Amino acid sequence: MNAVRLRFAPSPTGFLHVGGARTALFNWLLARHRGGAFLLRIEDTDRQRSTQAYTDAILDAMTWLGLDWDEGPGIGGPHGPYYQMERLDRYHEAADRLLSGGRAYPCFCPPRAEAEATEDLEPETPVRADCRCAEMDPAERQRRVAEGPHAVRFATPKDGEIELEDLIHGSVRFERKEIVDFIILKADGVPTYNFACVVDDAAMCITHVIRGDDHLSNTPKQVLLYEALGLDLPRFGHIPMILGPDKKRLSKRHGAVSLQQFREDGYLPEALVNYIARLGWAHGDEEIFGRQELIAAFDLDGVGKSACVFDYAKLEWLNGEWIRRLGAAEMARRVRPLWEGRGWIGPDESGERLEGIASTLVERARTLVELADKARFYFDVPFPWDGEARAKFLTDSNRPILAALAERLGALREWSHDAIEAAFRQLAADRGVKPGAVIQPVRVALTGSTVSPGMFEVVQWLGRERTLARLEEAIVAIADSART
Ligand code: GLU
Repeated sequence: MNAVRLRFAPSPTGFLHVGGARTALFNWLLARHRGGAFLLRIEDTDRQRSTQAYTDAILDAMTWLGLDWDEGPGIGGPHGPYYQMERLDRYHEAADRLLSGGRAYPCFCPPRAEAEATEDLEPETPVRADCRCAEMDPAERQRRVAEGPHAVRFATPKDGEIELEDLIHGSVRFERKEIVDFIILKADGVPTYNFACVVDDAAMCITHVIRGDDHLSNTPKQVLLYEALGLDLPRFGHIPMILGPDKKRLSKRHGAVSLQQFREDGYLPEALVNYIARLGWAHGDEEIFGRQELIAAFDLDGVGKSACVFDYAKLEWLNGEWIRRLGAAEMARRVRPLWEGRGWIGPDESGERLEGIASTLVERARTLVELADKARFYFDVPFPWDGEARAKFLTDSNRPILAALAERLGALREWSHDAIEAAFRQLAADRGVKPGAVIQPVRVALTGSTVSPGMFEVVQWLGRERTLARLEEAIVAIADSART
């Protein structure tokens, strides 16, 4: 059996969103699972809506997710992606073949007004409803062709049915007569989606076209084009929609949808790949899948027909699990740019200390951003004091405890977790109080709040100097409030 060849073909008319990322991921996984090729093709023929910034954002998101592509134009150079606007010759050549075989005809209708344009047809596509170009007298046609640029319309065969075995939906049928003659090349020489897609999928020897089922209505048009061009059909599989929690199509109303947004919100690519893979693909009860496990397990037989719901809470949970799986050292490495960006650390801050700080936060954090923010008190930046905590714990009666602890910590020979813990416990024992009676006021003094990671770790990674300075500050603050 020949190796499979798959592709992801985004239009750079927006950011990569969850739906597109899932299509990319399923194609990539299938290619990797079956030892085939995965191609990336930027479908940039919608000149009005495509931008370089969107292209860059899509490539960035693909790279961030780790969805690497295998081939591209140019020999020996960095591979890919393919850009349709660099392949116009191929579409012209194919259109010429259809024209000379009588399977397409020139269309001279004026472009549609912007207001008339529907989603699948761009404004510069000629009007369709009253087009009579198919019946034009040959001499008249020749004269108009010689006059200048014109569009090309595909003459769709009108008899019979198209029956397809969709890899996900099973048998699907379409009436040929339902498919009106459609534009394949606009007057400016730029192909429309269906035409460019077929020419490229054939040229790139794509064996499986896996895409969202919003494209199901395009597939019969594409099948007719394959037939007219004498090309072999690939297999088609249309994956079901992703819905928001209210069962409406997932959109910005529901929360983040672009991969860029998830990244900014502190989600890890490992968690997104894991979560998105499970959107519409069933495989036992296991929740956590690493990349290699997904490659080993993924195939189309696990992909269901019905729409699935995007569960933000589950993604957040999974992200937390991945934070812990990847561990403190890796999290410190990833969160470092966030801390630097906030101006909390400089480039020479010790990696060991950052790993220590991260190790105190990974247990609870659900996102990288949360992990970054929660670390604020570790750095030399003002942090908010919780007024209630201060009133309750930074009191005259606790002042001697803070002072005594400062003295003992100041005298510690070794600054280690165990030595710090022993100092706390000894002080509590000496004063005949529970350890909590020492820990809580110290926690408020050091972190500004009654909730923080374990106190001994906090003290360890805050470091001696900062710890002593903050205890001193708290003692001064208590004295000041006693005076006023
Ligand atoms: N450019 C199309 C899109 O972004 C590709 C559809 C396909 O995969 O054929 O929806």
